[in-house]
Amino acid sequence: MSLIVQKFGGTSVADCEKIRAAARKAIRAQQQGHQVVMVVSAMGKNTDTLVALAHELNDRPPAREMDMLLSTGEQVSVALMAMAIEALGHRAISLTGGQIGINTDSTHTKARIRSISTDRMRRYLAEGCIVIAAGFQGIDDDFNITTLGRGGSDTTAVALAAVLNADECEIYTDVDGVYTTDPRLLPEARRVSRISYDEMLELSSLGAGVMHSRSIEFAKKFSVPVHVRSSFTDTRGTLIIDQPEDPTAPVSGAALTRNEARVTVNGLPDVPGTSLAIFSRIARRNISVDMIVQNAGAAGKADISFTVPQNELHDTLEAVGEAREVLGPFQITHDASVAKLSVVGLGMARQTGVAEHMFQTLAAANINIQMITTSEIKISVLVDRENGQRALREVHRTFQLELERTPAEAAALPHLAADSHAESARALDVVQQLHGDNMEELLINDILLDATQGSITIHGLPDTPGIAATVFRSMANAKIFVDMIVQSHGSHHASLSFTVPREDVEKAKAAAAALANQFAWKDVTSRSAVAKLSVSGIGLRSHTDVAIRMFRALSETEINVEMISTSEVRVNVVVDAEKGALGLRQLQEVFFDITRT
Ligand code: ADP
Ligand code: ASP
Ligand code: MG
Repeated sequence: MSLIVQKFGGTSVADCEKIRAAARKAIRAQQQGHQVVMVVSAMGKNTDTLVALAHELNDRPPAREMDMLLSTGEQVSVALMAMAIEALGHRAISLTGGQIGINTDSTHTKARIRSISTDRMRRYLAEGCIVIAAGFQGIDDDFNITTLGRGGSDTTAVALAAVLNADECEIYTDVDGVYTTDPRLLPEARRVSRISYDEMLELSSLGAGVMHSRSIEFAKKFSVPVHVRSSFTDTRGTLIIDQPEDPTAPVSGAALTRNEARVTVNGLPDVPGTSLAIFSRIARRNISVDMIVQNAGAAGKADISFTVPQNELHDTLEAVGEAREVLGPFQITHDASVAKLSVVGLGMARQTGVAEHMFQTLAAANINIQMITTSEIKISVLVDRENGQRALREVHRTFQLELERTPAEAAALPHLAADSHAESARALDVVQQLHGDNMEELLINDILLDATQGSITIHGLPDTPGIAATVFRSMANAKIFVDMIVQSHGSHHASLSFTVPREDVEKAKAAAAALANQFAWKDVTSRSAVAKLSVSGIGLRSHTDVAIRMFRALSETEINVEMISTSEVRVNVVVDAEKGALGLRQLQEVFFDITRT
């Protein structure tokens, strides 16, 4: 028998009428012959109300008690949902995370799922009940209630779909699908018919709040088709599966994060182990760091800039400050008035000039880029917060995201209730592959060494619009393929580094030097050969310690990390060419050991 999981977000259960409408959807699915598991969020803004209450009594409420409090929101809505279904003449049972047996670790307010027991749910389903699971919560080994982090009901839903080997996980929400960008920010955003797991992973972790990014980690790991659709209509929404909508498009979506802050640490010792000292202290607090850019300054000193969620700025500054114990004195500055704009697309990995196109567009709009980082399928830039929305609009337009695409290979779409037995071993296989009881464990697929590139760095750049556009226009004119790009922050120290094929290093350096000369930039340095080491897998960013493990592994062998880029599916570091092979062995040892323990 086919099984579907239906998740209803807060706005979809905000009042009794909406609860009844959601109940009817579940009943209808059951009448169509499916077993139905519902996952329900707290009603409306109930979670926000509880958070506000907590803060009225305590500035920094204990995380364990926060979980105790916030989990009640979902307990209310599952009970009401069961009553609504009962009143419509059908059988239902509500269950908390603990009652289902959703076992998590003990990281209160952002716990990870370890295992889920299916026995109880299966028993009720077999009896003909609609099972209603409380979203976003679980229980740790000591029976403490835990929560998975704000927006985490999506993760509950996809995780249940994975262990129950569901045919589809439907996410009912207040939009009718996934859009090219948040339609609340940009009315011209277009709903996409489908989007790949990798693209959705990046977009959700870069600010597209429509899905909790950890839910997409589950979807990808366990091949769960996710269907995002409106709770208020019956039209089909967006399928999140393994293929993109249009494989030829360089960009499939854009996201803007306006709740991030930049932190810059100046005057650090420029020796292996410095980044480790800083980031290990941040990771220990489970804070995810993005846009890490470091650059060597004068007199053996280096600077590091990065972004963190604004609500974790306080903890981050505390963590960085502690590193003085081992690194000696340094300065910390921060800026909470920034916005991070990112574009994402699987197609960009195979095309040239995508970054240049984005930089040209921002330059033409006179928007200054404070920082840049890129990885294979995304480009992120940091701009002033007041320019964020305008930058998003310009970039959305330049990549023609509002234009309708015709989905390729429509035949490859999965169909609900297709032969589910053919794949019945799917979830089980993957779980075994993940070594038992740790569903949200980091999964590493590959560790690679790319020894084909060199790098260019331009130092002493002014903090004005148009710099990156000028540099990459000149590289494009010289027909040079640019791979990784990082631009650091700073009015005196700003520098721009990028990698190019080894055979083009001289040409690229000459082009950069000509510009430096023309615009009185400080100078240009190059490395005829560098090694790029990449770790790819699932959960690389949400497992905040991946970059740290890389730093640690490399610093133990005295390898200095020159450039870094992190994404959901890949972390790249650039190191000295001669250290490439050693670095590769070191990373293989560290990461393949982790996933096997
Ligand atoms: P729920 O309460 O159902 O979980 P959320 O508020 O978490 O709903 O997510 C839905 C919201 O996500 C939409 O109202 C929309 O404003 C926002 N959103 C952000 N980015 C996107 C996007 N790319 N596509 C669709 N919606 C988006
Ligand atoms: N109620 C929780 C929140 O508001 C979980 C969720 O809705 O996904 O964050
Ligand atoms: Mg949500």
